[in-house]
Amino acid sequence: MLAHRLIERKRDGGRIEPGEWRAVALAYAKGHIPDYQMSALLMACFIRGLDRGETAALTEAMLVSGDRLDLKHLPLPRIDKHSTGGVGDKVSLVLAPLVASLGVAVPMMSGRSLGHTGGTLDKLESIPGFRTDLSLAQARAQIERLGCVMIGQTPEIAPADKKMYALRDATATVESIPLIASSIMSKKLAEDLNGLVLDIKRGSGAFLPELERVLHLADVMIKLGADHGCPCVALVTAMDRPLGRACGNALEVEEAIAALKNEGPPDLMEVTYALGAEMLVLAGVAEDLIDARRDLERAIADGRAAERFQRIIEAQGGNPAVVDDPAVLPQAAECEIFGAPRRGFVARIEPKAIGRGIIEMGGGRTRVEDQADPTVGFVITARPGDWVEAGEPMATIFARDRAGVGSGRQALRSSVVIADEAEPPLPLISHRVTGAGAEPYRAD
Ligand code: URA
Repeated sequence: MLAHRLIERKRDGGRIEPGEWRAVALAYAKGHIPDYQMSALLMACFIRGLDRGETAALTEAMLVSGDRLDLKHLPLPRIDKHSTGGVGDKVSLVLAPLVASLGVAVPMMSGRSLGHTGGTLDKLESIPGFRTDLSLAQARAQIERLGCVMIGQTPEIAPADKKMYALRDATATVESIPLIASSIMSKKLAEDLNGLVLDIKRGSGAFLPELERVLHLADVMIKLGADHGCPCVALVTAMDRPLGRACGNALEVEEAIAALKNEGPPDLMEVTYALGAEMLVLAGVAEDLIDARRDLERAIADGRAAERFQRIIEAQGGNPAVVDDPAVLPQAAECEIFGAPRRGFVARIEPKAIGRGIIEMGGGRTRVEDQADPTVGFVITARPGDWVEAGEPMATIFARDRAGVGSGRQALRSSVVIADEAEPPLPLISHRVTGAGAEPYRAD
């Protein structure tokens, strides 16, 4: 009866009260509400929206549907980073060990690839043996020992969100600001954090392409954090082209390891340092963003960050030799160079076509239960704004067979636009958002 009443009220533009959100989230987590009713409720929320009070109540309801990591006893500050998702976004793999190597606990809980976007868990699992399914007790013990764990949402954390997110993915109800904000924040708040840094993607390859909606999402998430005593800072970063050069699980791990050794592509290093600096300042281990950046650069240069990643990999059952030898990663059976289809400026490299190409080649998933092939993907060396001659190498396709190479070629043909004029790409980092509002990002 409860679900029916709430669907009807939301459908007609009414409000759902905090006690009702709590009851419906708990009942759904326990299997007492069928998927068809929850789907209808989510669609009514998607269309009618949720006000600030309802968004806060839904977040709280999903949070208390499960347990917390419970890390208050740790002597270290606890900070995490969350990205709204994109193509080639391997920042978490670099950032978590890097920030942990500087005396901050990073209890990183990540997701799988879904839709055209990649997922940190799939990337990590391309390292032979790496386990992301630790129990809460194992995760807690590893954070105590190494200051960092890199896991998926456990069954105990925000179980109502876990079920609702899977349902939203199947019912076209993902792209809603209150539903995205409450889903992400219910999981992050369960990590018992002292602060959270958000990487909110904008541009054609992001879930929310338009700047106005991106800034609104940042504002909603920051307010949800503040409600729970968790200060948040958001950086708005570009997803109108892939981040870095590698796109595809094992290829991205290789690039992330290169970044930990100071050999990453400039855009990946820049976004990593910018987010990392915010994390160190929120943690209170750096005076300001300039000091923080210097500390991050040192931890990369002297090998501390790479060494921490090696220890995390070993602790989670992976082969730590991967840090010294990327050949430990599974390798694609076929590869082929992709040459520029004509001479001109690289006007665009559309991330969605790249992400969809990876799925087509078997490297992503269209349903949560699909298996992703870790070996397939692209290394795209050309950047928007570059001048290329016809046939000049722009990318390498990695595939499991010749048919996969064909799909990869097709994906690059629809992603890469060469034109007579260069098109200005979005600024790599355009805004910094805090509780005080949004301001243009300044690199210094
Ligand atoms: N990631 C989440 O965890 N939830 C959403 O709703 C969207 C992205």
